Amino acid sequence: MVQSPLSKKIYDASWAELIRQLKYKSKWKNKLFYQIDTYYPSSQICPRCGYKNKEVKDLRIREWECPNCSSLNDRDISASVNIMFEGLKLYMKSGLGTASQ
Ligand SMILES: [Zn+2]
Repeated sequence: MVQSPLSKKIYDASWAELIRQLKYKSKWKNKLFYQIDTYYPSSQICPRCGYKNKEVKDLRIREWECPNCSSLNDRDISASVNIMFEGLKLYMKSGLGTASQ
C-alpha cells in the first residue's frame, strides 16, 4: 500500500486521537491504560510458544503455522493475545500488580 504524505498525516492524526480518547476514558472510568511499543511485532509472535516468525511480516499472510510448536495462528487473534500479554507485562513492571500495593 502506497501512502501519500497527506494520507499518512491523516492516519497519524486519527491514531493519535484514538490513543488520546483511550487515555481519557481510562482515567475517567478509573481504569489503567498501558501503551505498548509501536514496533512490537504482535502478529509475528506465536502466542502459544513465543517464537518470533519474521517470515510472516507480509500483511497478506493472514494465517501461519508456527515452525516451533506447529500451532496454526490467525494473524489478528495472535496479535490481540500478544498485545494483551505485553500490556500485562507493563502492568506487572509498574508494581501495581504486587501484593504490597
Ligand atoms: Zn509456537
